Amino acid sequence: MAIDATLPYDDQNIFAKILRGEIPNRTVYEDEWALAFHDINPQAPVHVLVIPKGAYVSWDDFSVSASEAEIAGFVRAVGAVARDLGLVAPGYRLLANVGQHGHQEVPHLHVHLFGGRPLGPMLAR
Ligand code: AMP
Repeated sequence: MAIDATLPYDDQNIFAKILRGEIPNRTVYEDEWALAFHDINPQAPVHVLVIPKGAYVSWDDFSVSASEAEIAGFVRAVGAVARDLGLVAPGYRLLANVGQHGHQEVPHLHVHLFGGRPLGPMLAR
């Protein structure tokens, strides 16, 4: 079920629970600004989610409300994850779903990082 990305942040969402350590995750990277972990339902050989540590519903919310330091820290973390996973040379894809048309299901900003095989065209027609 896709979420309404204009709603206020819900601190009971599953990624908030992961950040608080209430639900386990398979962490691949963590720093002051971000946590990255394997997607529970991978769509590619590598499918990692990178989330900011701050409470932001979506890319839209983050781009409006996050501090310069949070934005820089998060963007740098996404790059670090891809490098750590050896994905720069073969290439990879980033995706951030926002709201209903974007089919965002979890109301905490997350960037999907896909790799490990040629990923084909961007969207199914
Ligand atoms: P989105 O549609 O962009 O909101 O994607 C949400 C993603 O979160 C999906 O790819 C799910 O498989 C993934 N997901 C949901 N719950 C968990 C969880 N507990 N641990 C890891 N990934 C999860």
